[in-house]
Amino acid sequence: MKKIYLNPSDMPTQWYNILADLPQLAPPISPATGKPATPEEMLAIFPGPILEQEMSAQRHIDIPEEVLDILTIWRPSPVVRAERLEKALGTKCRIYYKYEGGSPAGSHKTNTAVPQAYYNKISGINKLTTETGAGQWGSALSYATSIFEMSLRVYMVKVSYFQKPYRKSFMNMFGAEVIPSPSNLTNAGRAELERDPQSHGSLGLAISEAVEEAASNSDTNYALGSVLNHVIIHQSLIGLEAKKQMEIGGDYPDMVFASCGGGSNFGGIAAPFVKDKMDGKKVECVAMEPISCPTLTKGEYTFDYGDVGKMTPIMQMYTLGHDFMPPAIHAGGLRYHGDSPIVSAMYKQGLIDARSIGQLDVFKYGTLFAKTEGIIPAPESSHAIAGAAKEALACDERGESKSLLFCLSGHGHFDMASYDAYYEGKLEDYSYPEEEIEKSLRSLPKVDLD
Ligand SMILES: *Cc1c(COP(=O)(O)O)cnc(C)c1O
Repeated sequence: MKKIYLNPSDMPTQWYNILADLPQLAPPISPATGKPATPEEMLAIFPGPILEQEMSAQRHIDIPEEVLDILTIWRPSPVVRAERLEKALGTKCRIYYKYEGGSPAGSHKTNTAVPQAYYNKISGINKLTTETGAGQWGSALSYATSIFEMSLRVYMVKVSYFQKPYRKSFMNMFGAEVIPSPSNLTNAGRAELERDPQSHGSLGLAISEAVEEAASNSDTNYALGSVLNHVIIHQSLIGLEAKKQMEIGGDYPDMVFASCGGGSNFGGIAAPFVKDKMDGKKVECVAMEPISCPTLTKGEYTFDYGDVGKMTPIMQMYTLGHDFMPPAIHAGGLRYHGDSPIVSAMYKQGLIDARSIGQLDVFKYGTLFAKTEGIIPAPESSHAIAGAAKEALACDERGESKSLLFCLSGHGHFDMASYDAYYEGKLEDYSYPEEEIEKSLRSLPKVDLD
């Protein structure tokens, strides 16, 4: 069977919360006091129901009817056996992908944008702020806020704002206001512009601007598209569906691959399989990250800020240091210094594996996938494709045949300039920026847990 669909009536009606099955994580720490953040501090930017999920130890959480109704516009998403890719690789492995690019915004991010907008709306909030790097999260949230008739301001990293003009058009279409960051609307933005009037901005700085605006306006909240526990919980739908679909297809993955930036598509597809592993099943989940931003494979497991401006709560996670500026690789969604506390804990516990890969390999397998399977992948997603393809070839060499599943987190229709650069031979392989990482790891915050 080539394509495995799930009936809308068989779609999961509850999210899986892996916090119920992991040892208790450290609480978020206030950047102001260095002590665990108070509910009041968190409620300044997040609505109650989201905070409840963030701290929840409940294993299964009901998806609200209204949210389910919107998610079924594109869910359940298909699992596809990549037969033509297998053939082109000449592998004896079975390769499957779970395709998340069919959502309105073209990536998995819509899975969490919709419940986040919903929970804010029912909490009486009508205005959200957020940041976006490559534009995927801003697109997803603009779609979700337009459905619930809320207003949205998106701080978009300036370099992307000019490189990806159609992402801005997309967000405008759904009524969002898009501001290039650094801007002169916030203290964080003005400070950066004073330091460097030509600043290209960064994701960490755009986060500072969006959080600052939400924290200083009582009618405005902030929404984050990755990293946090509630986001990983919402994305568990990917793995829950995939498990059912693999069963329908009469197979079970030996290995599961996903790209890992803040960890949401990886955490989402992996969580239900990691639960299987804890219950004694044999399955290996692999987080794929860029060599140039190797958070899990080269970072430190410690406490760090989520942003350059030190505005966000401090979290226990793998980090390269909050002021680490990764090289400008063509997978903007993976250029984040930290990682989800859940994914970090799973890695620390040895429940998952991580590998890093250079962007030339990423584009090599991404273009092979496009030509064989007919979908142009987002460069972020191509990290997962490359992970699975390289594993298949390694299996063949060892004379093994495995079942490999990966998450195709989004399509690359807005990333054609990156493909042009690849075909023009203008893409370089950055090496592991050891010195910069060493330097940025020296400015970690001090934390008082008692
Ligand atoms: C944002 C994004 C990623 C990386 O974010 P995670 O939270 O690690 O999943 C990967 N793929 C696509 C298509 C994205 O938009």
